[in-house]
Amino acid sequence: MSLVNVAVADNVIQMAGILPDEKKSCDDNEEKIIKCPPKSKIGYVYSPELIHQCNRVPNLKNRASLVHHLLESYGLLDHVLLLNCDKVNDDVFQGFHSADYIEFLKGDVDVEDESSEEYGLGFDCPPLEKLDDFISVIAGGSVAGAKALVSGSVDVAVNFCGGWHHAQRDCASGFCYINDCVLAILELERKFKLVLYIDLDIHHGDGVENAFAYSRKVFTLSLHKHEEGYFPGTGSVNDTGFGRGRNYSCNVPLRDGACDETFIHVFQTVFQEVMKRFRPEAIVCQCGADGLANDPLGTFNLTPVAYARCTAVIQSYKLPTLYLGGGGYHKANASRCFTTILAGLIGVQISSDIPEHEYFNWYGPSFELDVSRGLRRDENSPDYIRTLLQQVFGNLEQISSES
Ligand SMILES: [Zn+2]
Repeated sequence: MSLVNVAVADNVIQMAGILPDEKKSCDDNEEKIIKCPPKSKIGYVYSPELIHQCNRVPNLKNRASLVHHLLESYGLLDHVLLLNCDKVNDDVFQGFHSADYIEFLKGDVDVEDESSEEYGLGFDCPPLEKLDDFISVIAGGSVAGAKALVSGSVDVAVNFCGGWHHAQRDCASGFCYINDCVLAILELERKFKLVLYIDLDIHHGDGVENAFAYSRKVFTLSLHKHEEGYFPGTGSVNDTGFGRGRNYSCNVPLRDGACDETFIHVFQTVFQEVMKRFRPEAIVCQCGADGLANDPLGTFNLTPVAYARCTAVIQSYKLPTLYLGGGGYHKANASRCFTTILAGLIGVQISSDIPEHEYFNWYGPSFELDVSRGLRRDENSPDYIRTLLQQVFGNLEQISSES
């Protein structure tokens, strides 16, 4: 049986020269690797109801089950603390969303009604049945992860049923009805003064950026595709926040075909600078997997290795961190990606052969964990990346000079 090394943290740390010292990886024996104690206490948000509701996200039908069962089939859930979650109440929603919008979602939504359009219900956010339950449970998952970090019961919390970053204060958008990312950050702010939000989804994390655009307490960093006509259309390198929050939003727009090397290089370079200047006490990372090669809505050329390396770099700072899901419309590939991320966070190597389980057939014809990169050319030339990083660093330099 071949093994895939997804415990990339040590490799990346050495590559990046962040923690060059005594870190030792587990023995090369599979038995010992599986028994290797986790470096951090990791919580995994789970309830059957959360999976059920997340299975209803438009365009992602049943993905939550696919992900959960793959994690389980690899035995990864034996290494984590299961975090139960409850529905949230209106007080939690209204930390960000308008009372009118929540009331509307909880009522009988009629798409023929004019206010449906006003609130974003329709095209990519159809009025789901029992929307009340859906939004309360979806929000509850990420809030539960944040609460576990606030209480200190875990060092890292993972909720792949979260990450709905496009939802606005009073409007649904891009398959997102409720912004669990924002609600989780608000929960973290009860304890942590400065929170960094990272968005790895191929789409700009507009809802979260807008929520904190005027704040210096939450820094938002989004890597995404930015091109005219590509959803949601925002996230230019020149968008850096407003008022007191100016320079506390960082947008890193990439072009089609971004490959692992490009993405990792850009992420690592910018992230380290943000850490140096902003010095957060906690992190939320949205791991939308629609940057993977051959995603039906994406045009990047990433493999799960890029995501796992980014999360490994984040982990090297050993801050309380909440990892969320997000996009990822090739459902089996998104499931492969989230599994690779969690294995990396735990620090175990897992087989490249997908274990036989209830959803095994979804992973054909390869039945392997890897996602091959596609044939797309990387349009991010060295010149483009150099100029982009200069612009981003120019923006980030403003932070220390004004505080
Ligand atoms: Zn997306």
